[in-house]
Amino acid sequence: TEALSIADFANQIGKSVAEILKYFFAQGLMLNQNVVLSEEQMAELALEFGFDFRKEESLTKENFFEALDASEEDKPEDLEHRAPIVTIMGHVDHGKTTLLDSIKNTNVVGGEAGGITQAIGAYQVKNKDGKKITFIDTPGHEAFSEMRSRGANVTDIVILIVAADDGVMPQTEEAIDHAKLANVPIIVFINKCDKPGADPERVKAELMKYEIVAEEYGGDIPFVQGSAKQKIGLDQLEETILLIAEMQDYKANPNKLAKGVVIEAHLDKAKGPVASILVKEGTLDIRDMIIAGTTYGNIKHMEDEHNKKVLKAGPSKPVVVYGLNEVPSAGDKFIVMNDEKMARTIAEAQAEKKLAAERQSNQIFSLDSIKKHI
Ligand code: GDP
Ligand code: MG
Repeated sequence: TEALSIADFANQIGKSVAEILKYFFAQGLMLNQNVVLSEEQMAELALEFGFDFRKEESLTKENFFEALDASEEDKPEDLEHRAPIVTIMGHVDHGKTTLLDSIKNTNVVGGEAGGITQAIGAYQVKNKDGKKITFIDTPGHEAFSEMRSRGANVTDIVILIVAADDGVMPQTEEAIDHAKLANVPIIVFINKCDKPGADPERVKAELMKYEIVAEEYGGDIPFVQGSAKQKIGLDQLEETILLIAEMQDYKANPNKLAKGVVIEAHLDKAKGPVASILVKEGTLDIRDMIIAGTTYGNIKHMEDEHNKKVLKAGPSKPVVVYGLNEVPSAGDKFIVMNDEKMARTIAEAQAEKKLAAERQSNQIFSLDSIKKHI
């Protein structure tokens, strides 16, 4: 970008010199119209006045994440293969955690309070040929259906798990809705086929009502039968995922600043805010500063699903990051923003926007409740 004086800049963005001087004055800076702006100051003004000096469309600190989604398409030659991102969805107790657990061959179920997944985690597994799959573990609890719907938006493939002894249940229906809204391929895993009351054919028949029709019945949805607990059908499930990944050809540009989504976050008494995030594009570097929803911070430490320190994370890689100044929300978008002042400005604007939206929804809520009481 060319060097511009305040007068030139004001002219370019269609604002008066006075407005710009006033902006700096409010920050304790007494400038005049001949002062040449630094690139950082221009970026700041661009955010303040809703004008992007690098792009045609306007990027503001309020529409920041939306505008990002709409911005820059990657060139085809910059795209590289990435691992498919898979979400397991289904009714509570149909075996989501057990399936994920069997896949990664560790023991999560035993450590869960009350058998319900308390937090969303994400893990990457590698098969014997070195092919990777990223799994997102969504909580089974009803209160998290909002997050599940967001989960469906980060995911490439949904595994719909249905217990063969129980059949289609309310949260199975919800999961089908989410998968259809997200418009992603579905694989049905009929679980608990080891149980005496298992009836996989009944499950297939029930799912037809939802237009989830197995290939053997003339549909195009792959079905896998097995047992998460007895580790039956897992190879076939993995093959099916990789087959879909091959056909869909998932790609991303790893050679740019990272963008992605917060999968889960909490406050650790000793370590401060901890966020489990999934990189969707670009490569996250341990030296980066990120802005995530209404919060930001320098990454102090980054680790993978095996609690091993990592220095970089590319597309489809889930990592846990430490160093945000507050706890973000699951489903928040994040992006690298290696300019602390701008990161703070945007984070604050996002927080204000969120607060305003909450106030408004509270108002709507109270209006509704008043009407009900008249
Ligand atoms: P989630 O709520 O969907 O995560 O379900 P869980 O993975 O917590 O499983 C609920 C219960 O079903 C647990 O007691 C599991 O041990 C059991 N379970 C899961 N998969 C199977 C299976 O394939 N066969 C049998 N017999 N039990 C299973
Ligand atoms: Mg679970």
